[in-house]
Amino acid sequence: MESSNGMSASSCKKAMLPRYKLGKTLGHGAFGKVKLAVHTLTGIKVAIKILERQSIDEYEAQKVRKEIDIMRQLFHPHIVRLFEVVDTPANVYVVMEYMDSGELFYYLTENGKLHEDEARHFFQQIISGVEYCHRHLVVHRDLKPENLLLDSDRNVKIADFGLGNIMRDGHFLKTCCGSPNYAAPELISRRLYAGPEVDVWSCGVILYALLCGRLPFDDDNIPGLYAKIKNGVYPAANHVSESGRDLISRILVVDPMRRISIPEIRRHPWFRRQLPRYISMSSPNASGGTEKIEIDAVKEMVRMGFDGREVIVSIQNHLHNEATVAYSMLLHSFSREQGMQLDNPIKENRGHSDAAQMVTTLTATPPVLPGSNNWTLGFKSLASPNETMSDVLKVFHGLNVRWKRIGHYNMKCLWLPPSAVDAIKFEIQLYKASGEKYVLDMQQLNGPPFIFLDICAAFQAQVVV
Ligand code: ADP
Ligand code: MG
Repeated sequence: MESSNGMSASSCKKAMLPRYKLGKTLGHGAFGKVKLAVHTLTGIKVAIKILERQSIDEYEAQKVRKEIDIMRQLFHPHIVRLFEVVDTPANVYVVMEYMDSGELFYYLTENGKLHEDEARHFFQQIISGVEYCHRHLVVHRDLKPENLLLDSDRNVKIADFGLGNIMRDGHFLKTCCGSPNYAAPELISRRLYAGPEVDVWSCGVILYALLCGRLPFDDDNIPGLYAKIKNGVYPAANHVSESGRDLISRILVVDPMRRISIPEIRRHPWFRRQLPRYISMSSPNASGGTEKIEIDAVKEMVRMGFDGREVIVSIQNHLHNEATVAYSMLLHSFSREQGMQLDNPIKENRGHSDAAQMVTTLTATPPVLPGSNNWTLGFKSLASPNETMSDVLKVFHGLNVRWKRIGHYNMKCLWLPPSAVDAIKFEIQLYKASGEKYVLDMQQLNGPPFIFLDICAAFQAQVVV
């Protein structure tokens, strides 16, 4: 609840954050509130962590910077995305992906112990996120259900990298941190430790909590709790399958050297059951720098009034500006629309062309245009679909584009412009729009985006539709 004081503070914040409309408070963290907000340009909901400069000392500010640096590097379907950081004299605003279904912690307290299949679903997602962090030399060190957030599709994502630390060869992490119940024995013994095994331990405690609805190590006082953790003795999980118990017993091993590793967890039969395809493949190596430009997102931005070429230049040069922030939010919401977080493998393109392809193999009339407001870069035609298609192919012939038919109204195309080294591949699809109108959509598959825009322009100049 906001006091009247809070109201004026929030309108003040609004002025400092012109591109966002702040809403309700989602949670309280060690360094400040987390609020719901809307990115006004795209209408996408985000979560904003507000860090008041006056309430953080230099040491804490360092920690926050560390968290921000870590999150910026991570792009994974099970890690909360960081979109941008807005620095003002009074506050630092960390703009993140909004997770609309709260903490896994609440889910667990509401539902009690979970069915084994449901626990496995969460555990597989957590492990894939943790594996990705480790591959990028990040140890989270504070994994617990409060830092695992859910979206409305029951996907879990890792949040709160406040205590994360970059592992470096030869450097051990010496500080003791995290929540005692989830902390590995070597952490509370303050031994030198190398890192990733502490997250594996926490994942074991989380798995136990998911399957049993209670903690494996708990005590009214800290010394008692520490003693239990160091002994590694926990109440038996008798109702859990033998395979599930076996996995827990291999994770909750006091000696970090004998504890199961993430690659071994991946091979464990309990983990492998009902493993979604995108998790069975190794984690995407996505990083901001290697992203392919998603032409649909650029199209959407052109519709909002951005200059397409400027957007592409900003993305290619990894600039941090209004365009790249909006672009990354759109990309993110596209991937959610596609439902990639659940059972589908991660795809680089939006799903519509695949879906459209299926439709065209079944019918001889063009599919109906889906979600028409995204399609401003298409070309409209009033001619019959056959005539339109033959006109399009005539123009392609003149431009020296080669094509392969996939469906009646869907082709893969290849163009090698005279001045360029790289060939450009794109796909065209004719859709039925309202009435007797047809829309030709062109979607880039690979090659330099500028040249793709060139072929669009050349096509537009010649096509008579
Ligand atoms: P701290 O690092 O101080 O613990 P967190 O990042 O864990 O702060 O955020 C505190 C709380 O705010 C979380 O436990 C959660 O309830 C809420 N929260 C944080 N990030 C998000 C988000 N991206 N979406 C929704 N709620 C969030
Ligand atoms: Mg937290």
